[in-house]
Amino acid sequence: MPEGPPRPHSPAPDHAGLTRRRFLRSAAAAIAVPGLTGCAARVARPEPVPPPAQAVPEIPLETLPPTLRLGPTPNFLPAPDLAQDRVLRYVAGLRPFRRGTVRIEHETVGSQSVVHHYGHGGSGFTLAWGTAEEAADLLERHHPAPKDVAVLGGGVVGLTTAVVLLERGYAVTVYAKALSPNTTSDLAGAQFAPSLVDADSHERLERWVRASARRYLALRGDEYGVYERPNYATGPGGSGLNKLPTDLFPMRDLDELPFPGGSRRGRVHQTLLIEPPTYLPRLLKRVYEAGGGVTPRTFHNAADVAALRERVVVNCMGLGSGEVFPDRALTPVRGQLVLMQPEPLGYLLSHAGYCFPRSDAVVLGGTVERGVDRAQPQPEDCLRILNNHRRFFGQPTAQLDRNAPWLRRWARTPHHPATIRA
Ligand SMILES: Cc1cc2nc3c(=O)[nH]c(=O)nc-3n(C[C@H](O)[C@H](O)[C@H](O)COP(=O)(O)OP(=O)(O)OC[C@H]3O[C@@H](n4cnc5c(N)ncnc54)[C@H](O)[C@@H]3O)c2cc1C
Repeated sequence: MPEGPPRPHSPAPDHAGLTRRRFLRSAAAAIAVPGLTGCAARVARPEPVPPPAQAVPEIPLETLPPTLRLGPTPNFLPAPDLAQDRVLRYVAGLRPFRRGTVRIEHETVGSQSVVHHYGHGGSGFTLAWGTAEEAADLLERHHPAPKDVAVLGGGVVGLTTAVVLLERGYAVTVYAKALSPNTTSDLAGAQFAPSLVDADSHERLERWVRASARRYLALRGDEYGVYERPNYATGPGGSGLNKLPTDLFPMRDLDELPFPGGSRRGRVHQTLLIEPPTYLPRLLKRVYEAGGGVTPRTFHNAADVAALRERVVVNCMGLGSGEVFPDRALTPVRGQLVLMQPEPLGYLLSHAGYCFPRSDAVVLGGTVERGVDRAQPQPEDCLRILNNHRRFFGQPTAQLDRNAPWLRRWARTPHHPATIRA
């Protein structure tokens, strides 16, 4: 249970006690019951959420170095150990891709004011702070703070939105079917790169990227699990990296990538790695520190949303948004990952797939399967991901053995996030 010494801007003790109790209930329920549906049925009405004692200031950014630094490129970097018996598990997640653009729009639904904020595709971590600032600006134009606001969804987008609104003086309750570790956000890599996402203009995307980068730069370190990493990319690999502004994310062309497995041209970007197993619980804790609350709740339709006591709502339900507020532009893009035992390699790699060594696992990706709505990993695809990386590093590939222990080990993992759709 996250607790710490009182902070200068933490809520009054009674309020903090209330929100900590709620956190215990919701987080424990999220871990025990994927989807939280049963829990939601028991919670008839949310408890009222008192407004925060005062607006929570943003983390002071001006004290931190504004950009990343790209160090010298070594002549040689080791490959990860890609032996099958080092596979921890393999997973599949559905990226909430929206054709045209991420949706940040206001609409009036009955007596409620709804700001939609979803459709981040393969860039929910990368863009969340930037799009949350824009969604909060939109909300502020319709309903200046203070005001009670319901944030629907507790993935990276919902939690980030909740923090931004709390900073601006709103009283926020997050309502969600599931929390970390049972959301799509828990399945992300998660590198800072705007890939597999549509924006209606280059300028808008760049605004989101810069605003988000500014926040993540301030969060670097073990507490949030945000780290600087060089990403080595082959020519066609890492398309989202091409959209990073090079004044913030320095880049260098390389005549030869420093890996075993053959001579290949490429480039290196200094970018950010956000580790979801650390980042998401810390972000949830930040919601509590700032005076917000969390209530488990499943919405089946707009009438369920109308039944909330709040008249102002921000919809951050990712792919789940489409079930409640139909949107033909929203479509899943499945991605599969193989998680290997961790190794401190200190770099990221983007080629025909990607390799993100994190502290919990070496994450190998990634497939791009448009319109596939089953979040079930496929053994054949996972072996393809492994073999793809073995080929890159010049190692022998393998055939699929359905009796291999690593396949059976995954099958025994209970309540696996891979079964979560949204
Ligand atoms: C394999 C893979 C790799 C990825 N890699 C990266 C990466 O490297 N970098 C990056 O930036 N992004 C990456 N992403 C994308 C990123 O994970 C998503 O963009 C992000 O998770 C979307 O966040 P979200 O909060 O909108 O949705 P979610 O995480 O899905 O959260 C939705 C929330 O809404 C709730 N909800 C849904 N429906 C309902 C309902 N009916 N009632 C109540 N609550 C509901 C859910 O329970 C959840 O709390 C990756 C995604 C995948 C699948």
